Amino acid sequence: MLKIENLHAGIEDVEGEIIKGLDLEVGKGEIHAIMGPNGSGKSTLSNVLMGHPRYEVLEGSVEFLGEDALELEPDERAKLGMFLAFQYPSEVPGVSVANFLRTAVNSVREEELRPMEMYKLLQEKMKIMQMDPKFAERYLNDGFSGGEKKRNEILQMLMLNPKLAIMDETDSGLDIDALQVVAKGVNELRGPEFSAIIITHYQRILRYIEPDFVHVMLDGRIVTSGGKELAEQLEERGYDWVREEFGSKA
Ligand code: ADP
Ligand code: MG
Ligand code: MG
Repeated sequence: MLKIENLHAGIEDVEGEIIKGLDLEVGKGEIHAIMGPNGSGKSTLSNVLMGHPRYEVLEGSVEFLGEDALELEPDERAKLGMFLAFQYPSEVPGVSVANFLRTAVNSVREEELRPMEMYKLLQEKMKIMQMDPKFAERYLNDGFSGGEKKRNEILQMLMLNPKLAIMDETDSGLDIDALQVVAKGVNELRGPEFSAIIITHYQRILRYIEPDFVHVMLDGRIVTSGGKELAEQLEERGYDWVREEFGSKA
């Protein structure tokens, strides 16, 4: 599904590497959590995977479904089935949620979905997310609460039905409601054809989404990996022991 090898990356006009030789393999149907202290490079990694234009890959490779993902534009990655959270603009005057989702769904399809099918799909997914149908008529992000934005993003994910979702929850300060919304969306899609990378500082979201693998990121690398017990260990002991055990001695 996804294979990252010896990835080195940084930000345009910022000296030095932030990702310093990261390796990760995500198989079909697997949920991976990447955890790490602040500043370890988690958001940089998700931005690189999303193809954010300000991020520069200096070395290494990212293969997605057998293709060189680094050669693909963000929209081409999406067409292949990568779900790129936070890809949409923060507020779009005059564009309703329904219109936005129609455009998003059609942009990853070969053939446009017929209006009736689109309507049915939207109804079905909104029901899963326990959303009021009226929500679809609102303008995108116009006065949305944090929870509504998150709900809309997860609704978008369900509509797109991606093969791989990458979610960076670290700095979003999600409350429990929003966390549960995210978890519901991921758990809804969970199955042999869906993989996810949940990037997080706190392990709380992992109470709602049980990861198959947990990786710890430190100073731009994955320094140790394990099962969900590793997340529990991090909750109990914090990140200090990781630094002591794996931190650079420089
Ligand atoms: P995390 O998400 O794990 O907290 P980040 O990827 O946000 O880590 O940041 C990793 C490192 O890159 C930090 O040292 C941070 O200061 C630096 N960094 C992140 N964004 C920028 C930026 N826009 N300009 C300069 N340095 C940055
Ligand atoms: Mg940070
Ligand atoms: Mg971050």
